[in-house]
Amino acid sequence: MPHGVGNRNDLVGRYLMDHRCGAVGAFDTTTSAAVCDRFGKYVVRSPRGTHTFLHGLALSERVQRAEGLLHCALWIQEMPADDDPWDALKRMLRGRADRHDARVVLGNPGLLLAGARRRWIQRAGLPHRLAGVELRCMVEQRPDPDSRITLADHDDRLGMPVARIDWRTSALEDATVRRAAELAVREFARLGYATPVLSDWARTGSTAPVRLTDWAHPTGTTRMSADSRHGVVDPGCRVHGVDNLYVAGSSVFPTNGHVNPTLTILALAVRLADALGTGSGTLRTPPARAS
Ligand SMILES: Cc1cc2nc3c(=O)[nH]c(=O)nc-3n(C[C@H](O)[C@H](O)[C@H](O)COP(=O)(O)OP(=O)(O)OC[C@H]3O[C@@H](n4cnc5c(N)ncnc54)[C@H](O)[C@@H]3O)c2cc1C
Repeated sequence: MPHGVGNRNDLVGRYLMDHRCGAVGAFDTTTSAAVCDRFGKYVVRSPRGTHTFLHGLALSERVQRAEGLLHCALWIQEMPADDDPWDALKRMLRGRADRHDARVVLGNPGLLLAGARRRWIQRAGLPHRLAGVELRCMVEQRPDPDSRITLADHDDRLGMPVARIDWRTSALEDATVRRAAELAVREFARLGYATPVLSDWARTGSTAPVRLTDWAHPTGTTRMSADSRHGVVDPGCRVHGVDNLYVAGSSVFPTNGHVNPTLTILALAVRLADALGTGSGTLRTPPARAS
């Protein structure tokens, strides 16, 4: 295979995507309690245990289609202060507390009691003492063949070629984040909640440099397609042109959405393991999504 395994169409390493993520604005901590209660953390109890979840706000499909925007989600991130009694208590319970933590716990019985009531009776998140409350956003990336991993000319200490990463971002991602932030502020106001002050760069029409970073979710470099001209693996995760080579990882995502990748990676891996385990070698193609 002169161009490399699975690389007949020069696709291996292309379409590198990550999630771009960052704070788009901040709430005033003295007025943010109601909006945090409604849109912040909440607790779900089930026979399998108690889990804390965080609400996310996404653009409606109608807005996305009408304005040609990507997937993204916004959420409220509470930033605990150094003297937050719940964090101090958690450190104490893990045996990692110092004198400062003990003082903070003993000095804040009211906040701890109120938190216990919220958590176990009202099933809401704990009321932390806050250093700040941010509105954060995570956005998917537009697949771009020029966003690419290639191999550098030199090797690492183990003799493996070092990866050369040329990660591209697009203006559509910036526009999606700015529009989502604008709509969120408008909706918070319409519902009577405190509104965040948006960062300058996150305002619609801003030309300031966008302050979003990668989120350690590398994706897309062996993308899936039924057509070998457009993908490295087929819908069963098998490398096109090779009978017995499969890939299970976020590299097969043709698009990466805005959500964390691990559960999807696991679902793909379990599906592949089932097919390999039964020896059928063929995977069921996931049903097409209803439009
Ligand atoms: C700090 C951090 C926090 C994260 N938090 C979350 C989270 O909360 N939720 C979530 O969904 N995701 C999270 N992620 C992302 C998630 O961990 C990754 O998206 C996921 O692990 C990617 O899985 P993968 O199998 O595609 O690739 P990887 O986990 O990167 O696996 C690649 C594997 O291939 C091996 N490998 C690489 N090159 C070669 C080679 N040439 N030969 C043989 N083996 C090779 C590597 O050693 C590695 O074991 C987080 C990531 C980081 C770094």
